[in-house]
Amino acid sequence: MLDQLKCLIEYQKIEDKKNQLVRESEETPLRIAELEREFELFESEFLLKKSEQENARKMHKALEQTIADLEARLSRQRSRQTEVKTNKEYQAIIKEMDETRKEVARNEDSALELMEKIETLGRELKDLEKEVAAKRGALEKDKAVLQEQSDKVKGRLDRLEEIREGVRGRIEQDLLKKMDFLLFKQAGVAVSSVDSGVCQVCHMNIPPQKFIELQRDEDIMQCPHCHRFLYWPGHEGYCFFHEDIENI
Ligand SMILES: [Zn+2]
Repeated sequence: MLDQLKCLIEYQKIEDKKNQLVRESEETPLRIAELEREFELFESEFLLKKSEQENARKMHKALEQTIADLEARLSRQRSRQTEVKTNKEYQAIIKEMDETRKEVARNEDSALELMEKIETLGRELKDLEKEVAAKRGALEKDKAVLQEQSDKVKGRLDRLEEIREGVRGRIEQDLLKKMDFLLFKQAGVAVSSVDSGVCQVCHMNIPPQKFIELQRDEDIMQCPHCHRFLYWPGHEGYCFFHEDIENI
């Protein structure tokens, strides 16, 4: 087994794990924002209904004032009724009072309708308020769990970084330069296993002679197509590491 190749494989495993953890940690704020949006959407229904009820209350208050004004008018008309001199004037004031009474009745009907609306909204709001409170509680709980997970991921990334530095220290300078260059050029994947003569990253066949050489395990080889470092997992030593990288 080639110790340097083993280091490269381990380094690649660390890079893979690191990328996976970075993606996970980037998902947390997005997931939190998504949960907050869902909650705000639900809460906005509640707030909308609440403002609907407030408007209905204001309108009801205005109607009560209108009714009070009409009652005052009616009372003035009643006083005038006693002061009229002619039958024609009497008939006129009776007609006026009739109109005022009709107007009072119309406004009272509207006020009653509004009152019913306010009560219905009140019942709905009471239920919604409970739901909003429950959802807010659930949101805070979910956020705390996500945050805790995110903190754990950060801890794992720190641990991984330590191991990464250790592995880098064990790789010869020239090889490390090649490895870093390949990681940069080949979308973060610089090492590939070979199965049945096929590079498992670019999926191209490597020449049969090369595959035999790879299995002999004498030199570090690169894929003739994608230039990634190659290893044959038939050598089990290349598949186990002293650090359990997968489960960090
Ligand atoms: Zn390849």
